[in-house]
Amino acid sequence: MNLDEIDLGASLKKYFGFSQFKGLQEGVIENIVQGKNSFVIMPTGGGKSLCYQLPALMQEGTAIVVSPLIALMKNQVDAIRGISSEIGIAHVLNSSLTKTEIKQVKKDVSDGVTKLLYVAPESLTKEEYVDFLQGEKISFVAVDEAHCISEWGHDFRPEYRNLKSIVQRLGDGIPLIALTATATPKVQEDIIKNLGIGDAKVFKASFNRPNLYYEVRPKTQNVDADIIRFVKQNSGKSGIIYCLSRKRVEELAQVLQVNGVSAVPYHAGFDGKTRSKHQDMFLMEDVDVVVATIAFGMGIDKPDVRFVIHHDIPKSIESYYQETGRAGRDGGEGHCLAFYSYKDIEKLEKFMSGKPVAEQEIGNALLQEIVAYAETSMSRRKFILHYFGEEFDEVNGDGAEMDDNIRNPKEKQEAMDDVLKVIQVVVGTSEKFKSKEVVKALTGKINALISSHRTEEKNFFGIGKDRDKGYWMALIRQMLVAGLMKKEIEQYGILHVTPLGKEFLIKPTSFLMTMDHVYNKE
Ligand code: ADP
Repeated sequence: MNLDEIDLGASLKKYFGFSQFKGLQEGVIENIVQGKNSFVIMPTGGGKSLCYQLPALMQEGTAIVVSPLIALMKNQVDAIRGISSEIGIAHVLNSSLTKTEIKQVKKDVSDGVTKLLYVAPESLTKEEYVDFLQGEKISFVAVDEAHCISEWGHDFRPEYRNLKSIVQRLGDGIPLIALTATATPKVQEDIIKNLGIGDAKVFKASFNRPNLYYEVRPKTQNVDADIIRFVKQNSGKSGIIYCLSRKRVEELAQVLQVNGVSAVPYHAGFDGKTRSKHQDMFLMEDVDVVVATIAFGMGIDKPDVRFVIHHDIPKSIESYYQETGRAGRDGGEGHCLAFYSYKDIEKLEKFMSGKPVAEQEIGNALLQEIVAYAETSMSRRKFILHYFGEEFDEVNGDGAEMDDNIRNPKEKQEAMDDVLKVIQVVVGTSEKFKSKEVVKALTGKINALISSHRTEEKNFFGIGKDRDKGYWMALIRQMLVAGLMKKEIEQYGILHVTPLGKEFLIKPTSFLMTMDHVYNKE
């Protein structure tokens, strides 16, 4: 399409009734209608869908939209059908269709009626569909939720790996557009490589959400009471509380109800009817709070969610960002409160222990990042944005003050000598021990493993007696985060000193340890 001949603004108005493009939309659409590849990285709510919907509606042929979520595809199809008198303008092609329905879809595509054809990646691998689509005019292929391509994303789907070869089979030079709300440099690299779109123009919006307030509190036995207090202080406001397990979801919802908070539980174990009922109650504001597993939230567009509480810390920063991102979508207040205990990290580690080594390695690296986030004393916003490859000025940046670490700076303590003690013990025990035994050796405690290595006879045995177990565990974690040590993957948990740690031993430098975390007494 020739850009000079089209009026994107008029089309936007005509099809969607909006008078202005949002963020980077216009640039993306221009790029697509010129037949070029695009890579769109925008946070949730940034308006990604319109980036492919509008050019699809404007252009000849059918745009294929690959998406992993059937429910979302259906929503989008309904929305598009709402702007046209032609039902066939958008279709979902998947295995649940009857023969007659498939026939109708094929007819609409062939007749040039269908502008948007939504397919799940596994459907696109079906020979029957590929054969059919090969003969049709395809305007472009949009790969939504493109992070599913990467094992480093939060939702890896192997079927996404085949997309490139399938698109190639559909015809020469079909433009590709990849879209994701996951911004880590590693995931981006995987997407570009896997789809073979090294030439794509990259459109990356800022991930900063200046209206969100980030806070982490230590998780103690009183976490339920802490949550009740918070919710009561915010009564009448909408909020989501995420828990890891279904059991906890139900318990906490009940505890809240008993305490006079209007709350409903939500998790994938409820039947479809109950789920939609509870979801609707939340959306329609019949209840203030939904207590949920991560099954809740995808595609939920409630603009005035005023808080998101994490009863359990999630497994990665991306998940945390996605889940907290559901707060304050209207630009108003959004309090993101996470309760953190290292015990929860150990639980998450355990979940992974049966998985393939490569997967564990990735999972543990992601966990290490969330530990670092929870325990950091730096600007949390800066931490998150740095993780997403974005610079942030923690003094003057937009939203800099919306952060517990900035409002109440944590106390830090010089721990150089203690770091040296840890390294000495790890090296002195020939890097055979996990944190637990290293801490025992430091504090001069014996167990079977310790004595089987005759560790109690070593001159460093008990050099850290002046501190308790919780202190040493925390220091070890902070050393892991700082890259002075790492955990072995094969026999997960065995501590090794990294080259950086060895350098520290030769030339010790200041190591500021964050102090106010309430350490778990195991
Ligand atoms: P994403 O897919 O990035 O999460 P969506 O495509 O769901 O975001 O868009 C988020 C919201 O923004 C939707 O309610 C959509 O209707 C709205 N929106 C998108 N583009 C515009 C625009 N140009 N003007 C106003 N609202 C828009």
